[in-house]
Amino acid sequence: MDTEILIVGAGLCGLHAAARLQAAGRSVLVLEKSRGLGGRAATRRWNNMPVDHGAQFFTAKSPEFVAQVARWMEAGVCHEWTRGLHRFSSGQLHAPEDFAHPRFACRAGMASLGRALGGPLGDIMRRESKVSRFAVVDGQWQATLEDGRLVRSRSLLLTPPPAQSRALLAETAPMAAQELDRHHSWPCLAVAACFSRREIPWQGIQAPDDKVLTWIGHDTSKRPELHAGHTILMLHAAPSFSITNADAPEGEIAAALLRRASEMTSLDLCSPLEIFLQRWRYALPASGETPSGPIAQTFPAPLAIAGDWSHGGRIEGAWMAGRDAAEQLLVMLR
Ligand SMILES: Cc1cc2nc3c(=O)[nH]c(=O)nc-3n(C[C@H](O)[C@H](O)[C@H](O)COP(=O)(O)OP(=O)(O)OC[C@H]3O[C@@H](n4cnc5c(N)ncnc54)[C@H](O)[C@@H]3O)c2cc1C
Repeated sequence: MDTEILIVGAGLCGLHAAARLQAAGRSVLVLEKSRGLGGRAATRRWNNMPVDHGAQFFTAKSPEFVAQVARWMEAGVCHEWTRGLHRFSSGQLHAPEDFAHPRFACRAGMASLGRALGGPLGDIMRRESKVSRFAVVDGQWQATLEDGRLVRSRSLLLTPPPAQSRALLAETAPMAAQELDRHHSWPCLAVAACFSRREIPWQGIQAPDDKVLTWIGHDTSKRPELHAGHTILMLHAAPSFSITNADAPEGEIAAALLRRASEMTSLDLCSPLEIFLQRWRYALPASGETPSGPIAQTFPAPLAIAGDWSHGGRIEGAWMAGRDAAEQLLVMLR
């Protein structure tokens, strides 16, 4: 056996679970397919500046996560970005009305959260290690990586989005795979647009009912000191638009989103200096905010499956799901 607990995915759920299991004295190994940590809490360096192309900000409601955010703030990982977001509804842009909830962001980008959780884990992280399939051999999990490496473990925690976890388990744990069928995700086409520096009178606009564009984020306002000459906006397409245009050319998608952003804001946003497009296939859980809890079973070998989808979505949900999954595994391994 290579490890007692194998965790697939170094998003916030996998990293938080790893930290708790390691603190409980367990032997843990984390496999992550990409180079970076943090999963969908993702930041790209663009023109030498951080730009959040996945999660935009986060909120904290449960006392446990509020305490975690306080620790991150003290360590300089995140800061309170804004309390009020604009809203576009019924054809009009509305100024914020509710200032009760702080929204947090990270000066160095949302990937800072993954670095903050993953840094202290030391050498239990294996990046660029994509799992292709699982088998159970002599009562133990055996992961086959894309490059042919094998990893054996007594128990397994899967944290990729449900459809990806399902594909990994279809043959070995069909019951768990079937349960995952109930959890769907929405895709999201995300466009970043860079402009010469200009005044933008809002931090973000939410448009949850729009059929084209549900979010316009003023990314620069999270770290104004780093963007002396530029203004960067992040646009998120609505789920229906993202499904219909999943394979459309980058220029077409960007033009449609920028046109809609111009209509919503009454600003001319149709001629950016530069754009990039990120096609998220599994961006947000479609299940809404009701926590379903991790899937846990002991046959054919101890297994937990968790992620934002199992705790109401979002950054906070992913972090809480890591806690739940770690607890489930500790009970199963008692
Ligand atoms: C466009 C967008 C906007 C969002 N906006 C917000 C927001 O404003 N506020 C908010 O709170 N949340 C937001 N979210 C949601 C938030 O990012 C997620 O809820 C959270 O990051 C999910 O964390 P997770 O650990 O559950 O999953 P993930 O972050 O998806 O982590 C899963 C990890 O598994 C890895 N993986 C997958 N398959 C394999 C494999 N075969 N082998 C090895 N590794 C694998 C992936 O690379 C990934 O790192 C947004 C997400 C997107 C995409």
